[in-house]
Amino acid sequence: MDQLRRIWLARPETDEAEIDEIRGVMQSGYLTQGPKVAEFEGLVAGRVGVGRAFATTSATTALHLTLAALGIGPGDEVLVPDFTFPATANVVVQQGAVPVLVDIDLATFAINVDDLARKVTSSTRAVIPVHPFGLPADMDPIMEVAERHGLTVVEDAACALGAEYRGRPVGSIGLAGCFSFHPRKSITTGEGGMIATSDEALAERIALLRSHGGVRHGGRFTFEDAGFNYRMSDILAAVGVAQMRKLDAMLRVRRAIAALYARALEGISGVRTPTCPEGSTHTYQSYVVMLDRAINRDAVIAQLASAGIETTLGTYALHAQPFFARAYRLSPGDVPNSYRAFESSLALPLHTGITSVQVDEVVEALKAAVRS
Ligand SMILES: *Cc1c(COP(=O)(O)O)cnc(C)c1O
Repeated sequence: MDQLRRIWLARPETDEAEIDEIRGVMQSGYLTQGPKVAEFEGLVAGRVGVGRAFATTSATTALHLTLAALGIGPGDEVLVPDFTFPATANVVVQQGAVPVLVDIDLATFAINVDDLARKVTSSTRAVIPVHPFGLPADMDPIMEVAERHGLTVVEDAACALGAEYRGRPVGSIGLAGCFSFHPRKSITTGEGGMIATSDEALAERIALLRSHGGVRHGGRFTFEDAGFNYRMSDILAAVGVAQMRKLDAMLRVRRAIAALYARALEGISGVRTPTCPEGSTHTYQSYVVMLDRAINRDAVIAQLASAGIETTLGTYALHAQPFFARAYRLSPGDVPNSYRAFESSLALPLHTGITSVQVDEVVEALKAAVRS
């Protein structure tokens, strides 16, 4: 299978720059959270336009730490889109709160604001809008609903470092925003995440809980809370520092490849290409098309795989996953767009190493697959 795979879905871009940065950290003898983490945090905070940034071990731990720092817990409800990677909702469950699953808009895959407003109750504390595949969710109406009901907004910007919404970087619009540095995201540290916020009180809670709840007094600590160890290592931050220098160049390439796909796929019946509304910029973390209902998406994935082209589903409908189905008992009819996207979305290969010839090859293979 792996030998057959000639066109990868995703592939991180790293070179000597990352290795040089790592070498510097190894030679310094300081390997845990230290000066490289601080440098990396400064680069991300500057880019996102926030006062503070906190590196973590993943976007999942970034989201969890944020909810813990906000004091979200039993009895609370948190609104999350149904169409997302499970981590968005798992962190709510881990805090003992209830994730309330909200439908999406099919045109953008982002949370549907009418369904969001409808699902607010007296127990709702927060909303976690996702910027799906790197496209900003429509934040202005989301912020309006949140303000009307006194909800905290935590952006799941896992896929979206570098994206902007009406001139504002994502991650800076809600009270906090969480980024991922998994190899399929804008930049990578192998595994890693970051919280961005300009709220000083929240920042202090995050700093405390990220490292065991400990406060340093000279050579020792007092432990003021039952915190976590969600610290990033300086070794990984070194990779992040090198990756931040490449962010804009990598985003340019991703957007150029997306434009090639859009042109080549134009007018192919049964395949709808992703949109990017006026005023937004997209990272194209994934290039996700929607297939007509009549097309068997999984058969298309299999046919492309036999041609050596790796594709996958867009992402998951949470209500259709065994855990969420058992715990919250939603049916496809409750979140119909999410279910439809789960059934018919298809992520095509997109990474900075793809050539225009390979894009054409993917498009030709997709044309053949949707016809058969
Ligand atoms: C990738 C992803 C996550 C999880 O990120 P990790 O860094 O792997 O924990 C969370 N939410 C969304 C929307 C993602 O795409």
